[in-house]
Amino acid sequence: MIRLTRAPDMLLGQHWVNLLRQAGIACRLTGVHLQGGAGEIPVDQCGPDLWIENEHDRESAMGIIEGWADASSRAGPHWHCPACGEWLEPQFSSCWQCGAARPGDDAPPRA
Ligand SMILES: [Zn+2]
Repeated sequence: MIRLTRAPDMLLGQHWVNLLRQAGIACRLTGVHLQGGAGEIPVDQCGPDLWIENEHDRESAMGIIEGWADASSRAGPHWHCPACGEWLEPQFSSCWQCGAARPGDDAPPRA
């Protein structure tokens, strides 16, 4: 197994795993089981880390993840509620869970 990258959080990590698996890349997310609280690994080492099975998949795997990040930053990405941590669809301008406004709406649009 080769450690590809660290996901910002578990949900996104799982999303990446799904994307890679759809592309036929064998991969897994580590750190998931630690939520159960085994307590054997220091918190800063518990991921979530994304691992791939084969070194030769590295480039395409990174391409998928970067492409995903790219596409989402262009199209109005899923966004992460700063108040409750919920991931939200691009079309929402406020959090359906807690009602917090989407951050960065007053930023100038990117060309
Ligand atoms: Zn929220």
